Amino acid sequence: MTIETSADVEALTGADGYVTGVRLADGRLIACDAVLVGVGAVANDELARAAGLACDGGIVVDLATRTNDPAIYALGDCTRRPLPLYERMLRLESVPNALEQAKQAAAAICGMPPPAPEVPWFWSDQYDLRLQIAGIPFEATEIVLRGSLEEGKFALFHLTADGTVQAVEAVNAPQEFMGGRRIIGKRKRLSAAQIRDMSLTMQQLAV
Ligand SMILES: Cc1cc2nc3c(=O)[nH]c(=O)nc-3n(C[C@H](O)[C@H](O)[C@H](O)COP(=O)(O)OP(=O)(O)OC[C@H]3O[C@@H](n4cnc5c(N)ncnc54)[C@H](O)[C@@H]3O)c2cc1C
Repeated sequence: MTIETSADVEALTGADGYVTGVRLADGRLIACDAVLVGVGAVANDELARAAGLACDGGIVVDLATRTNDPAIYALGDCTRRPLPLYERMLRLESVPNALEQAKQAAAAICGMPPPAPEVPWFWSDQYDLRLQIAGIPFEATEIVLRGSLEEGKFALFHLTADGTVQAVEAVNAPQEFMGGRRIIGKRKRLSAAQIRDMSLTMQQLAV
C-alpha cells in the first residue's frame, strides 16, 4: 500500500459512469475501481446564530452546557465545549461526548453539583479490529508502542516532552485503553521504558 500525503486531486476520470482513476495535480494518474472520500464535517449552527447565540465553529457552551443565553443549553456535535483536561475549547464528534454533556446539562438544570470532567474517548469496530482511543494527542512529541504489531494487539501512547500521557490508541487492547484513560485523567507521567515493559500491568502503571 502507498500513502500519498499532500497530494492535490485535480479530477476523477471515468468511463461508462464508473470511476477509473484519480488524476493528481502533478500529472500522475492513479488507476482505481472505487474512491472513498473523507471530508470531515462542520456544525450547522445557523439556527443558533440567528437566535443570537455565540458560535465559533459550533455553539459555544460552558461546562454546564449553557450557551451565552442562560435559558438555552446546547450539547453534542454542534457545540464547542471546554476540555478542562487539555485547557482548551474543542468541538468533539462522539457518542461519549454527547453523553458526558447530557450529564452536565441534567446536573445544571436540576441544580446538582457538576459531574467530574471525563477523558474524551472514541471507538470503532473494523472487522476483527477493535479500535479504542482515549484522550487527544495535543502537543505530543513521542509515540511509544506497547504490545505486538505482529499479533495485532497493541497500543500507541502519545507523550508530551515531560512524559505526560495525552492519548492512548488501542487496537484489540482493552486493558491498555481502560488503564490509559485513568492515566490520562490523572495527568500521569510515564517513561517509554515503563510503557513498553509488558511485565508491568496496566493496573500497576495507572496507580
Ligand atoms: C457514519 C458515522 C459513524 C459514526 N461512528 C461513531 C462511532 O463509532 N463512535 C462514536 O462515538 N461516534 C460515532 N459517530 C458520531 C456520533 O454519531 C455523534 O457524535 C453523535 O451521534 C452525536 O450526538 P448528537 O446528539 O450531538 O447528534 P445526533 O445524534 O446527530 O442527533 C441530532 C438529532 O437532531 C435532529 N435534528 C437536526 N436538526 C433538527 C431540527 N432543525 N429540528 C429537529 N430535529 C433536528 C437530527 O435528526 C438528529 O436526530 C459516527 C457518526 C457517523 C455519521
